[in-house]
Amino acid sequence: MKINEIAEKNYLWVEKMGWHNKTTLEALALVASEVGEAINECRNEKPTEAFGEELADIILRVLDISHWHGIDMENKLLEKMAKNEGRGTRGRVK
Ligand SMILES: [Mg+2]
Repeated sequence: MKINEIAEKNYLWVEKMGWHNKTTLEALALVASEVGEAINECRNEKPTEAFGEELADIILRVLDISHWHGIDMENKLLEKMAKNEGRGTRGRVK
């Protein structure tokens, strides 16, 4: 399954559950809450087994927002990666 198909499938499920947010800001705040959950899963020496699940929650919430706003995330990711690669090191050392 490609990333935009995952985004659509997840969006339709969240809609069916009646869980969609009314504002983009609220949806973004929930992305931040998932980042907090991921942080809690890697506070010790090694990340817990739940760490990957929290990373998935972050991505699913972002994909939900992108699908909502009609953003082709697969294409956007590829565009942004190419843009980043074209920027060089921007003064940072390895
Ligand atoms: Mg979570």
